[in-house]
Amino acid sequence: MPETETLTGARKLIDDLVGDRAAEWDRAGLIPDDVLRTLATRGLLCVGVPETFGGLGTSSAANGEFTAYVGSRCSSLRSVMTSQGMAAWTIQRLGSPRQHAEYLPQLAGGKLAAVAFSEPEAGSDLSAMTTTIEPDGDTVTVRGQKVWTTAAHYADMIVVVGRYGSGAAAVVVPASAPGVTVSRVPQPSGCRAAGHADVRLDDVRLPASAVLGGGQPLMLLVTTALAYGRISVAWGCVGILRACLDAAREHARTRQQFGKPLVGHQLVGRHLAGLLTAEQIATRVCEHASRCWDDGSPEMVVATVLAKQVGALQAVQGAAAAVQVLGSAAAHEGHVVERAYRDAKLMELIEGSTEICQLILADHAVSMPG
Ligand code: FAD
Repeated sequence: MPETETLTGARKLIDDLVGDRAAEWDRAGLIPDDVLRTLATRGLLCVGVPETFGGLGTSSAANGEFTAYVGSRCSSLRSVMTSQGMAAWTIQRLGSPRQHAEYLPQLAGGKLAAVAFSEPEAGSDLSAMTTTIEPDGDTVTVRGQKVWTTAAHYADMIVVVGRYGSGAAAVVVPASAPGVTVSRVPQPSGCRAAGHADVRLDDVRLPASAVLGGGQPLMLLVTTALAYGRISVAWGCVGILRACLDAAREHARTRQQFGKPLVGHQLVGRHLAGLLTAEQIATRVCEHASRCWDDGSPEMVVATVLAKQVGALQAVQGAAAAVQVLGSAAAHEGHVVERAYRDAKLMELIEGSTEICQLILADHAVSMPG
């Protein structure tokens, strides 16, 4: 089936499953298990997994538009989707053919996954990571503490990044393995139903065959894995902006003040113009980054950081503008624009904060030929 047709059906399923329940999930801090399993068994949480492994094998562009659609309905669900896609991408990039055959069909067929890099003392500076993956014959032992792992609360497996000899590796850790403790992050300020959790790894013994990419330089491994997270978050920001634009436009058309619809007041119109501009800018940079992914362009890494940076900044400004247009209507907890305002700010912190993206872009600017 052509990918546009497949994903049109997928959007319909998202409409049916999410409906108007995103606010309820946000308040409860949970997405119902049947919703996640229904999407996971159809491969819709990681649509880029190749067809040979039971996935849909969509292009980055189609994946991105689908991610934006999910993000416009529920940023928590989009966050779970980002984690699942990042786990699949990490396995695809670092794993052996045998590991592809073992894990990718599971991710495209119903199992849920998360990816853990961050630690209490290693946030922006992941080179401070202390988690170890220690080989011992045909087994490895994993020890460490991960924090803020999105979707870990739901995950069947957690892709854990750690030190491995003088380099680094990722390791696929079953959430049920002895020594794994997953503890919910209490009441996060946004994406509240994304299942953020801290993960303790106390002498977790696994077969050596669970190790992906053993011995690579740590920062190379991290950059590889994060690339997927960044482009997915960037498209998620496009979704936030589209949800805000729709809500602000509808409200400005229907709410009357001073004898005419809000849209008739030019200062309100200015906010709508700003929102449309933000949505268009974010969409164009994401489309460019996805084209780089689909063409295998060497520009891919920088285009992805740029997309994440622009997407997050535009989403924060756009969501604030939408709150302003809605006034007190957006002051109700759970309103689409109120959630967007909280969710968007977190996009500036994750997958490389605004400042870390600026440092990467500054390095690129300096290294460009004059
Ligand atoms: P810090 O590193 O302490 O930074 C604090 C501030 O200082 C930031 O503004 C930062 O930009 C700035 N700063 C730090 N260093 C510099 C510098 N050199 N120059 C200029 N400014 C600097 N982690 C995972 O591994 N997996 C996940 O799935 C995951 N999901 C997350 C979801 C959410 C909602 C959140 C909030 C976090 C998540 N994280 C996850 C953790 C996330 O990656 C880190 O929060 C992020 O890397 C920032 O680290 P930190 O919070 O420790 O902030």
